[in-house]
Amino acid sequence: MQARPAPYLEDLNPAQREAVEALDGPVLMLAGAGTGKTKALTARIVHLLTTGRARPNEILAVTFTNKAAREMKDRVGRMLGQTVEGMPWLGTFHAICVKLLRRHAELVDLKSNFTILDTDDQLRLLKQLVNASNIDDKRWPARQLAGVIDGWKNRAITPDKVPASEAGAYNHAGPRLYAEYQARLRELNAVDFGDLLLHVVTIFRRHEDVLAQYQRWFRYILVDEYQDTNVAQYLWLRLLAAGHRNICCVGDDDQSIYGWRGAEVGNILRFEKDFPGAHVVRLEQNYRSTPHILAAASAVIAGNEGRLGKTLWTEAEAGEKVRLIGHWDGEEEARWIGEELEAMQKGTRGMRPMSLDDSAILVRASHQMRAFEDRFLTIGLPYRVIGGPRFYERMEIRDAMAYFRLVTSPEDDLAFERVVNVPKRGLGDKAQQTIQKTARAHGVNLVEGARIALEDGAIKGKGAGELRRFVDDLARWGRMTGDADLTHVELAQIVLDESGYTAMWQNDRTPEAPGRLENLKELVKALEGFENLGGFLEHVALVMDNESDDGGAKVSIMTLHAAKGLEFPAVFLPGWEDGLFPSQRSMDEQGVKGLEEERRLAYVGITRAEELCTISFAGNRRVFGQWQSQLPSRFIDELDAAHVEVLTPPGLYGGGYGAAGMAAQASPEIMARQASDLHERASRADVYNSPGWRRLQARAADRPLSQPREARHQVIDLEAVPSYGVGERVFHQKFGYGAVTGVEGDKLEVAFEKAGTKKVVARFLCGADD
Ligand code: ATP
Ligand code: MG
Repeated sequence: MQARPAPYLEDLNPAQREAVEALDGPVLMLAGAGTGKTKALTARIVHLLTTGRARPNEILAVTFTNKAAREMKDRVGRMLGQTVEGMPWLGTFHAICVKLLRRHAELVDLKSNFTILDTDDQLRLLKQLVNASNIDDKRWPARQLAGVIDGWKNRAITPDKVPASEAGAYNHAGPRLYAEYQARLRELNAVDFGDLLLHVVTIFRRHEDVLAQYQRWFRYILVDEYQDTNVAQYLWLRLLAAGHRNICCVGDDDQSIYGWRGAEVGNILRFEKDFPGAHVVRLEQNYRSTPHILAAASAVIAGNEGRLGKTLWTEAEAGEKVRLIGHWDGEEEARWIGEELEAMQKGTRGMRPMSLDDSAILVRASHQMRAFEDRFLTIGLPYRVIGGPRFYERMEIRDAMAYFRLVTSPEDDLAFERVVNVPKRGLGDKAQQTIQKTARAHGVNLVEGARIALEDGAIKGKGAGELRRFVDDLARWGRMTGDADLTHVELAQIVLDESGYTAMWQNDRTPEAPGRLENLKELVKALEGFENLGGFLEHVALVMDNESDDGGAKVSIMTLHAAKGLEFPAVFLPGWEDGLFPSQRSMDEQGVKGLEEERRLAYVGITRAEELCTISFAGNRRVFGQWQSQLPSRFIDELDAAHVEVLTPPGLYGGGYGAAGMAAQASPEIMARQASDLHERASRADVYNSPGWRRLQARAADRPLSQPREARHQVIDLEAVPSYGVGERVFHQKFGYGAVTGVEGDKLEVAFEKAGTKKVVARFLCGADD
């Protein structure tokens, strides 16, 4: 008698099972969003463990975010029915490379306690180099140099290997400054993000024995979101997989959204060439989203050329259409979404009650978050910001971290520069230059430089006394890290208080000061989850997540990029406006290619939603302090209108659209009023004269929306009611697809495929000919 398969296998469909059970040799799972790629990958890990093919620490599993890594660990644990100890090699490329690099730092002339710089430090450093070489950084911004260098690192190009064709980069100084920058990083015992991979690849290339050791060690390699690997990551994987050749990659070419950071969708397309005999598995059933959501997303992505093309289907009920709504401005959009979220919690506005945990707001650009954060703080709606540089990017947090960095590693010159005069210690530019010069002359770090400058009497006046105290304090705090009676949390608090940093914000009268003090408290709280300061600093450098969590339900706010791989019952996609989404840059600079990447981002966004997807745009928006009128995103045009419901903008019926909006749809009288209201509003601002707004008007009047694209740009007679003939295939929001069997004025009899024969009003239907 054959035993029943384990539960983790029973949960899978045949294609997924095939991918899980094909344990040996290369496997590629290439499939659309929500088809269970990540689920299958997770089951594969469980399968490897339960069949005894590999021990937990012999599996190398790469996820795209730290959050995804945590989730995968949890899921493996749940499937195994026990917590997984020791999967040290399950993490992001960066997290895994930090571990490898700490072990072998000396092979690239680093010490194993190297610092990981964030982009801010990186820029400061580059600026110094640019200034020192007399380049006008107004014409040649350091940021541009950072981009050039990152580009090389993403392609695993070391300074000595910059191709001749790129010698002209950054006003011909690029290659030289790259070399200088790398040298300076070594002096500082520091690496930037790009180095993590570059150094490890360099080590693997130069030291066959080291590589061979890991090739043997990692029996099985698994990679999620393979479409977003860059060249360096790809090389790294190929080097490691060359041993056992047990590599399983999963991905979706339609979700490749990191081209701007050097990801090469080509990696996924050439997998079969790199790994001959690869077992390729395609998955087609989507388990995440309702048909409307899936259809809307598929319609958008269909606009891209050169896709592999995939069929997606689902067994889910039709559910709600994708909702579309326009707002006057960004604040109104935030207010409306806040109200929606409150209504969802209560289950009003005809929605099933949902926890805030079930919802997410996905923005194109992180500056969009502020409006939501402000609004939610005002109304007391709990939210969390995920995946981005939010919390830890804040000034006070970065200052505090610089203090911690100096305590754990006095040679961190960048940290010293950041806080030597914060709070004010009476050290002007001149004093700081003196410190720099002294340090350079003696070949020591800035803390030492300061000490010597003080001894030499090179720094005088009030600043001298304060600087002496600062330098002495640093040494004292440094010694305290070894004090067994003192926790690192207590030490952190002592550092912030004794340095005068806390007092600086307590005495600050600006409106932001109380919030900053709150953030500092949060920071100290966050430290509790770690064993020591060093571990925490590493976590922050890698994670940059606002993780402080009281356990209560919260709506998540994140960028579309950070939302990759995640899913939520309800998703809000605000800011669908040309120039914001697609971004101005993608429209200006990169032509079709940039636009295609933005379109994939739209596809990623919509396909995060399980039940309810709400797209919105604003007519006016303040972008970097300036008001701009906005046009609805071209992607709105590309949504298949048969799967979209246009909501009445708030303000038309004395506030929220809610019940009034519903009524508006039901009553022709109110429909007419709505139309004339829209006309009135149209005269008030240019935006309402835009083609986009007219499209919205037409939709608000519940026109059939499945007409050809060109026609949608015409002004449509708002009173007209669509007409259908017997035999025509139609779609109804509630009843789904059906065929017209009888016509009586504006009432139709329709034989629905699922709901049976019903009488319905024509305006609630749309053609389903496409
Ligand atoms: P993405 O491309 O967005 O990363 P994905 O292909 O990785 O998506 P998963 O996140 O693994 O998809 O799965 C999507 C959802 O479908 C999850 O909630 C998952 O639990 C569920 N799911 C996957 N496979 C099955 C299955 N065979 N039966 C039931 N539910 C499934
Ligand atoms: Mg996934």
